[in-house]
Amino acid sequence: MKKQLLLAIAIVITIGLHAQAKPEDTEFYTPVPKKVTPAKGITAAPSDAIVLFNGTNMDEWELLKNPGSVEKWDLIDGTMRVSKTNGDIQTKRLFTNYQLHIEYIIPSNVTGSGQARGNSGIFLAMLPPRPGNGESGYELQVLDNYTNTTYVNGQVGSIYKQAAPLVNAALPAGEWQSFDVIWTAPVFNADGTLKTPASVTALHNGILIQNNFVLRGDTPYVGQPEYVKHGARPIKLQAHGDKSEPISYRNIWVRPL
Ligand code: MG
Repeated sequence: MKKQLLLAIAIVITIGLHAQAKPEDTEFYTPVPKKVTPAKGITAAPSDAIVLFNGTNMDEWELLKNPGSVEKWDLIDGTMRVSKTNGDIQTKRLFTNYQLHIEYIIPSNVTGSGQARGNSGIFLAMLPPRPGNGESGYELQVLDNYTNTTYVNGQVGSIYKQAAPLVNAALPAGEWQSFDVIWTAPVFNADGTLKTPASVTALHNGILIQNNFVLRGDTPYVGQPEYVKHGARPIKLQAHGDKSEPISYRNIWVRPL
């Protein structure tokens, strides 16, 4: 009898608490999301983007091996074509978290196979080289894999040697392709240890290929991923050392988050 009474009291209290809850308890009015005007067409830069390349100049970029050089990549018909002799380029600006749009084309006469066929790469944060590796950073792979096969965690849209793309959304060489990337940089403690890892969401030609993938560290060619403390970094585009015909980029913009 006592038990039933207690249960009845508990039910009455619960109903009472629920009755006090109002819809506005869970409705927030601030901070107000910033209004951004979308561009007409799906790929042009929106109003708040930093345009990194619009076809007219490469002012936002510098050669990795010679930052002061006026020579960069080849500006051809509103595109910038990889210069294998001049090497990698990186943004002059530094970034932490961002949304990136970038387009590329692999020439229709591309030759080679495996990793040596239109290889480039978007280093979402360029890092200083690690011993035993010529370069470091977090690479989103660019490669011709329309029919060309290679290790899946090294094919186009992979986070190099860490995560194969969810699908192969590649178009054939000779067609413009796009990446849209949401990059969340790793956060480090003051003592250099990792606080939170990097993560990435990416769309290839509008199709989800990386869904909030959490990185195990950088993406070295040889060896295991590692995290080494860093802050805001440049975005790097790779001039890969293979012999196949160089690829070109256009319409690059970024929205720091
Ligand atoms: Mg590459």
